[in-house]
Amino acid sequence: MPSAPTKLYADDVSLLVVLLDTNPFFWSTSSLPFSKFLSHVLSFLNSILLLNQINQIVVIATGCNSCDYIYDSSLSTNPGIENGKLPALCSELLKKLEDFVTRDEQLNKQQSQSLPPTTTSSLLSGSLSMALCYIQRVFRSGPLHPHPRILCVQGSSDGPEQYVAIMNSIFSAQRSMVPIDSCYIGSNNSAFLQQASYITGGVYQKPQQLDGLFQYLSTVFATDLHSRTFLQLPKSVGVDFRASCFCHKKTIDMGYICSVCLSIFCKHHKKCSTCGSVFGQAQTDVASASNLKRKTPES
Ligand SMILES: [Zn+2]
Ligand SMILES: [Zn+2]
Repeated sequence: MPSAPTKLYADDVSLLVVLLDTNPFFWSTSSLPFSKFLSHVLSFLNSILLLNQINQIVVIATGCNSCDYIYDSSLSTNPGIENGKLPALCSELLKKLEDFVTRDEQLNKQQSQSLPPTTTSSLLSGSLSMALCYIQRVFRSGPLHPHPRILCVQGSSDGPEQYVAIMNSIFSAQRSMVPIDSCYIGSNNSAFLQQASYITGGVYQKPQQLDGLFQYLSTVFATDLHSRTFLQLPKSVGVDFRASCFCHKKTIDMGYICSVCLSIFCKHHKKCSTCGSVFGQAQTDVASASNLKRKTPES
């Protein structure tokens, strides 16, 4: 963390943690090539740093099997263009991103040798946890720190098997008052990101024209938290509140809820697999079929 005098940490100084989706399963089918996507994102990151000289950005890559920090502007040694080289943001970020994608691909190969490929979603729960850990470290560094927020730039579809981990991250972000913004560039809406932005007070947006991605990023997601109170940012048209069952990780409309630990199951069980509570004989007493809150998104 760069040390800065008190008055410099005004309302509009941001710490932006960006989660970039690098999942090859998504990018091989996307209409927007990954290189174009990166050029939009790099311009956006540069514009955040230009808005305020003590703004800070951290980039985390979300792969298929792993996630990692790939850029931290507070650790950057080469802030400007020297000897005709690329600025640090581009050169460091691109190099680390390349290493990350290679490593993630190797993990994928190792796993597919032992097990058949089970999922094509990104490890969003992992990168959200890493972002929150970083932000907690900033919070504990002292009373003076930039205002943190998280931006997920995601294209892969949701992985229902990550439901519990993602919901835990969302509630942790809500508790720390860290908004999660979502820019979803996949084909359908992401229920996880809709819920993440809704619960944490962030902005969810699905750009209609991907070739104008930079415009969406800079007009909607570049605004600091203080300025948002004066702006009319896009509101979500609907949030898909459906949950996944803990037993099969399927998205369900109706289910059974453990009255002790609130675990969700798609069918009646004799015992709760999470907390071990034994459900009695009378099915109606212990496992009440609960109508989960549901709204369907209007896309
Ligand atoms: Zn189930
Ligand atoms: Zn339970």
